[in-house]
Amino acid sequence: MEKSFVEYLQKKVLSEKDMKYGEAIDLVNLTGTAIFDLMVAANRIKEHFVGKNVHLCSIINAKSGKCPEDCGFCAQSSSHATGVKVFDLVGADEIVETAKSAEKELATCFGIVTSGRTINTIGEFDTICAAIRKIRDATSISPSASLGMISYEQAVALKDAGLVTYHHNIETSRGFFPKVCSTHTYDNAIETINNAKRAGLKVCSGVIFGLGEGLPDWVDMAFTLKELRVDSVPVNFLNPVENTRFEGNEPLPPLELLKGVALFRFILPDKRISVCGGREKNLRDLQSFMFLAGANGTMVGGYLTTKGRQREEDLVMIHDLGLGTG
Ligand code: SF4
Repeated sequence: MEKSFVEYLQKKVLSEKDMKYGEAIDLVNLTGTAIFDLMVAANRIKEHFVGKNVHLCSIINAKSGKCPEDCGFCAQSSSHATGVKVFDLVGADEIVETAKSAEKELATCFGIVTSGRTINTIGEFDTICAAIRKIRDATSISPSASLGMISYEQAVALKDAGLVTYHHNIETSRGFFPKVCSTHTYDNAIETINNAKRAGLKVCSGVIFGLGEGLPDWVDMAFTLKELRVDSVPVNFLNPVENTRFEGNEPLPPLELLKGVALFRFILPDKRISVCGGREKNLRDLQSFMFLAGANGTMVGGYLTTKGRQREEDLVMIHDLGLGTG
């Protein structure tokens, strides 16, 4: 029964690129070996809509710490005494050099990431725009920026500088968001996403699993991202940092997390879905299954405040699965 339900939904998504909310709720409640059936189906949907290549992205932590927001998972919030590195915005040249290295390491997208609610000064904004212009001149990597909340005018200026993608996570579902953050709202995040889209930027917006949300929240997140018509979806797994509000969260079983990735592929069949932060710690030996579960991207070369594994290991994993990069 469960297998035929998965097959029915797979056929439906392949032909209609769509499924109903209630069907997604049934899907996220699957357990046991049905999760393997689900992954196989998610893989077929992935190959049909986005092919077999794995997109690699890489980031620079361009400004770290001292963030006035209180996101419960974040090592950079000033509400949490985590001992994370604190530094002001790095120079444009450092950003450009890091982008060049990322390109050499096969990343196709390079993100400039700053901590904080938004970009504070015109000087900072100009430095970032200058870095974007230089990246466009000196590399063929696709620049992305994650600068907190931005206005429509800022989005236009970033687009004019040559930015391709704006990154701004929704983090979780609307219903669960108040348990994650009290200093800004879900609608603030959506406003930034809409500003970026209106300015003609691509949007990358993702989520974190493991903050204490329930399975229906995963369905809500994916439908919100579908509604927002984002282009790319990073799925992160909480890697609890000591002294953050979520430091004691129990890790979710790897198969549950993979079920979540597969769910996202069913709901967002033709989008880039990248499994990013927390994959090593949370998936452990099942890490390569993330591509079978429907992911077609990942972040290489480490995360914002935590190290990833060696890039070479990721490339071997992708090669061993018979997948390409690009
Ligand atoms: S706004 Fe960004 S940097 Fe600030 S606490 Fe939230 S996640 Fe961390």
